[in-house]
Amino acid sequence: MSRLPLTRVYISLKNLDHNLSLLRELAGGRPLWPAIKADAYGHGARIVASHLVSRGVDTFGVAQVQEALELAENGIDARFIILSPDLGDTAQEIAAHGFEPVVATDIQLRALSREALRQGRDIRVHLKFDTGMGRVGFCPREADTVLARIAGYPGLKIAGFMSHFPRADEGDPEYSLEQLGRFRDLVEKTADFRDFETHMANSAAIFDVSGACFDACRPGIALYGLKPSSEIRNPRVDELKPVLSWKTAITQLKEVSPGTGLSYGHSYITSRQSLIATVPVGYGDGLARALSNRIEMLVGGRRCRQVGTICMDQCLIDVSPLRGRVEEGDEVVIIGAQADQFIGAGEQAEVLGTINYEIVTRISGRVPRLAEK
Ligand SMILES: *Cc1c(COP(=O)(O)O)cnc(C)c1O
Repeated sequence: MSRLPLTRVYISLKNLDHNLSLLRELAGGRPLWPAIKADAYGHGARIVASHLVSRGVDTFGVAQVQEALELAENGIDARFIILSPDLGDTAQEIAAHGFEPVVATDIQLRALSREALRQGRDIRVHLKFDTGMGRVGFCPREADTVLARIAGYPGLKIAGFMSHFPRADEGDPEYSLEQLGRFRDLVEKTADFRDFETHMANSAAIFDVSGACFDACRPGIALYGLKPSSEIRNPRVDELKPVLSWKTAITQLKEVSPGTGLSYGHSYITSRQSLIATVPVGYGDGLARALSNRIEMLVGGRRCRQVGTICMDQCLIDVSPLRGRVEEGDEVVIIGAQADQFIGAGEQAEVLGTINYEIVTRISGRVPRLAEK
């Protein structure tokens, strides 16, 4: 038996290298600390991280301590910044592994300090300031008191000052520039006694907010070759190359007569004699049921309509135009290229009214991720 199901994700290391070089250039050679949370946006964090380490990346951003642990335990030798604050209940693992949490609350500071003392190991923390995201973070006005408070928590060392852009992907940079000003003031105020790093830029800011790079940048989506939005002004965004392709294969071909109802609820009824292909991909793999009858897939180098309700494990494609030129076992591309055709993650995103980030991130854990050169 093949150990791999027919539905698979392929990760192009060549395209990952290309995007890495582009972003390094745009960041003026400053270090990149890639965001590889949520299994590297669905790309497979182990594959992505081990490749990037081989290309000189030494620091990653993950959301959770659990994600960092899984990578560290699988041999990824790097520094991990834990981007989402928790309630301090992971302090033991943080201290033991030298992870660097983003902190924004006293609950965290207390728990981390206590554990640092218990283990006799300093914990390096990144202070998050809310310069306009309206999510986690200390208020920049409180910076002085925050620094004074941290001095009262033994065992904690400030490794970084950071902030985050909520609107850097919009065509109008005004808000981001205002925000950047607020962060820059904060950084300048503390310049005299600072021996820590400052970081703020996500992918969109690397392209479009000049001066946002500080000591390091934290790209996510662009490293995977996807545009942060359609409003990025920097034309170099068009140089990004998508890293992920999602493929499956036809398991059955069937001629059906006009008026045949297909799949659950017969949400599609053929209007003519049709050649229908079954493929073993469904919402259990992360192909949203709400996409039913609204997307295309590539078969034989052509766009073919997905028809009928997408089931948990299977769905159907109308391959009538390929009659005589298609066989069971043929490759089907859900996202990616085939011959001269291409379907991007953005197509599904548009149908669902969401963003490309969500489309790749929601590809489920049962789909194997395979690296390809
Ligand atoms: C996810 C994340 C990023 C990366 O954002 P992209 O838009 O994918 O580049 C950067 N910083 C923080 C704090 C994040 O959570």
